[in-house]
Amino acid sequence: MKVIVVGSSHGGYEAVRELLMDEPDTEIQWYEKGGFISFLSCGMQLYLEGYVKNVNDVSYATPEEMRSKGVSVFVEQEITAIDPDKRTVHVINHQDGTERDETYDKLILSPGAVPATLPVEGTDLENVYAMRGRDWAIKLKQKTVDPDVRNVVIVGAGYIGIEAAEVFANAGMNVTVIDVLPRMLDTYLDEEFTDILTKEMENNNVQAAPGQNIQRFEGKDGKVSKVVTDQGTYDADLVVVAAGIKPNTKWLGDTLELTSGGLIQIDDYLQTSVPDIYAIGDATLVKFAPTDGKETRIALASNARRQGRFAAKNALGYKKAMPSVSGSSALSLFDYNFASTGIKEGTAETYGVETMSTLVTDSYRPPFVPEKHGNAEVYFKLTYDPNTTRILGGQIMSREDVTQNINVISLAIQEKLTLEDLAYADFFFQPDFDRPWSILNVGAQQALRDVE
Ligand code: FAD
Repeated sequence: MKVIVVGSSHGGYEAVRELLMDEPDTEIQWYEKGGFISFLSCGMQLYLEGYVKNVNDVSYATPEEMRSKGVSVFVEQEITAIDPDKRTVHVINHQDGTERDETYDKLILSPGAVPATLPVEGTDLENVYAMRGRDWAIKLKQKTVDPDVRNVVIVGAGYIGIEAAEVFANAGMNVTVIDVLPRMLDTYLDEEFTDILTKEMENNNVQAAPGQNIQRFEGKDGKVSKVVTDQGTYDADLVVVAAGIKPNTKWLGDTLELTSGGLIQIDDYLQTSVPDIYAIGDATLVKFAPTDGKETRIALASNARRQGRFAAKNALGYKKAMPSVSGSSALSLFDYNFASTGIKEGTAETYGVETMSTLVTDSYRPPFVPEKHGNAEVYFKLTYDPNTTRILGGQIMSREDVTQNINVISLAIQEKLTLEDLAYADFFFQPDFDRPWSILNVGAQQALRDVE
């Protein structure tokens, strides 16, 4: 069987890996239109901050490694069209300008997304950047040591914008983060968390400018110099736009059914509207576990990876439905570490779900353990259905790294566990790591009292 995989980031890489693991004799052709395979934007901050020295190391595979496993790897070769009747894809080889058609038995698409551009004046000025992929990583790295860059404006206070803010603040620059939403990281965390994190940003020379609409970028000598919002004007030698993404699907034309937002329609088996063509990653929707599988958009590598595995299995003929996901994610911001999953108080209305939430704070380890020996306050918020006490979401934050707890909440959501299940669940105790009652037990016990 011949399988063509399009796109070499998280989704494409995982699909190829699974094909190799399950049926190593499969004929695999793997296409990437860029000049590099398997760049991981998730690792970009580690490169920009100098923990990883070589940008090419921010990857899981090289063409040579994959070729040695029998995969035909095509770099700088773009798939520009699909003919489902002939079961062919059209390939443009950007290295030599040649074009050809390739046949497939099964086709797995992971074309991902590109940063969204703002519909305002001045986005084409010099020094207006994005943060995704290897080329932007190299350009951003140069700016971290550019003596002409003093003021950096980040547009978008989601995970990517916050990573960019930390990078440039740590490089000694004055950073402002502008977002249209009322708080920093508003999509991921409720107010109790974002209030603390906003103070932490301000203590580290990052100014928060929430609730503002970008009007235009102004320039001087062709370079960006100011960002104008409906509420103020900010000096800018560099602007990083991290205000969402748009799916890389225009090239598909009307070959496959797309949503109004251009995402590829898929079923539980990752199959598109056309037989034998599968789609995964940021160009698709996922099923959301807290709402029993209603479709939503959550652009995460963890989702793309899971989809890649299931798409490969289904392409090989094993019929395996992709499980729902909860949008679990984690990040650090200066001294804080936080993670969240599922629904929070602030997103309950969007999902049309009735919820209640309980916030508890506790110390990471027993109170007798000194702070300098690794003790700190932990904030944990649990969101649940007040009628059934089913767990629907969780958020956690501390100066210590307690983020892994959120994976337990993610599993609880997936398994439809209730507060009763979590309140007395068996978790270990050892004073080097936690309290006799885990913060998860404490949160669920308090929630049970609140709900009564
Ligand atoms: P993409 O990563 O968008 O890759 C698609 C690839 O396909 C590209 O290389 C593109 O050139 C190629 N391609 C597209 N069309 C064609 C074509 N027609 N022919 C040939 N090649 C084509 N997620 C997490 O879970 N955890 C994190 O910590 C995290 N951190 C992130 C940090 C940053 C700065 C960014 C930008 C993203 C982060 N993400 C994180 C999100 C994660 O990177 C994406 O969800 C993931 O990359 C999606 O993978 P994908 O395969 O769908 O597509």
